Amino acid sequence: MKENQYENFIRFMDHAAEIIGLPYDEYVSLRYPERELKVSLPLRMDDNSIQVFEGYRVQHSTLIGPGKGGIRFHKDVELDDVKALAAMMTFKCAMVNIPFGGAKGGIRVDVSKLSMNEKERLTRRYTSAILPLIGPDKDIPAPDVGTNPQIMNWIMDTYSMTKGYTVRSVVTGKDIEVGGSLGRNEATGKGIMFIILQLLKKMDMDITNTTIAIQGMGNVGSSAARSLYEAGAKIIAVSDVSGGLYNENGLDINDISAFLDQGRNLLSDYPQKPDDKRITNQELLATECDILIPAALQNQITSKNVDTVKAKIIVEGANGPISDRADAILYQRGVTVVPDILANSGGVIVSYCEWVQNIQAHMWSEKEVYATLERILRKAFNQAYKSSKEYECSMRYGAYIVALKKLTGTLKKRGLYP
Ligand code: GLU
Repeated sequence: MKENQYENFIRFMDHAAEIIGLPYDEYVSLRYPERELKVSLPLRMDDNSIQVFEGYRVQHSTLIGPGKGGIRFHKDVELDDVKALAAMMTFKCAMVNIPFGGAKGGIRVDVSKLSMNEKERLTRRYTSAILPLIGPDKDIPAPDVGTNPQIMNWIMDTYSMTKGYTVRSVVTGKDIEVGGSLGRNEATGKGIMFIILQLLKKMDMDITNTTIAIQGMGNVGSSAARSLYEAGAKIIAVSDVSGGLYNENGLDINDISAFLDQGRNLLSDYPQKPDDKRITNQELLATECDILIPAALQNQITSKNVDTVKAKIIVEGANGPISDRADAILYQRGVTVVPDILANSGGVIVSYCEWVQNIQAHMWSEKEVYATLERILRKAFNQAYKSSKEYECSMRYGAYIVALKKLTGTLKKRGLYP
């Protein structure tokens, strides 16, 4: 049976509240998303037939600021997943202390089956359908699984055409030409690298002696692979939907990345080097390595396969890749898990930089963007680490506690309306 992602999130939050003895009344509102919108999207296909797709936008919380979160185009997207992903955004933004709430959107569609024109029409129709909910002060979408800067450009354009003037700050993750920020594409991967460097320092380990396996070579996985490879790590395994590659002496990440960047290439088509071995995704998760980075989809490490995981450290590149039951088992086994709401927050942090630049009609250098990213992440990492020591819990709960305290503290100061 499929794990319910939203229930998984609730269990994480409830347990964090229990650790700090937080009264139920003080956080109960966070158990419910503020707004959920479901839309039907009729699309004229290139062959002139019409297909109807289902789309969603959920605002979990706007307590701290406008809703913020990506839009996912994937064949398995369901409302409960979107609710869970929106809630994780609330906790992510609170954890790293940026002035946003949490939201998420999605369309249940297999994008690989759509032409470029169909994708554009679907994106514009979806933007129009969720238009009452979004806006620079209300809710700001961004890329997620299956979406990219081009899709963000179309969202910006559709919103602007409807308003009658250009509104760059309505969406982040755009191309530079239409108001995107330098460094946004690589931000999540760079953030993962910064976090890993901080953790290794605490553990007295050196990045150049570290072996890493990465599941997923989309935006997050491939940017993390490149950043970590440049920092001197040995990436011994990577995978995508088509399967994986393993080399105990380290893979040639630059060559693999260059190959995958050419259009819609898959790893299974990569002309492997003589001592590279083909592996499955399950084998990748079971790779003997120092650090495992699940950077594909949710629910990859569950009670079913957690016993096969051999990594000492897991850094969640994806949102929700570990179920709460598997998480508890890993903690008991002494595996350090850096949770999604901290580990992959580099993306939304640079989205925040983009939004600030758009609002100020200003452009930062890449150096300024990365300096801001590093400053925010360093503080967030230290807070989550300290909180896990203070409450003698995992880093996941350390991070959830930091976020929960910030959210409930704000709620207390604002008061409950009416
Ligand atoms: N989809 C990304 C995430 O899950 C980025 C969200 C954003 O930039 O708003 O964090």
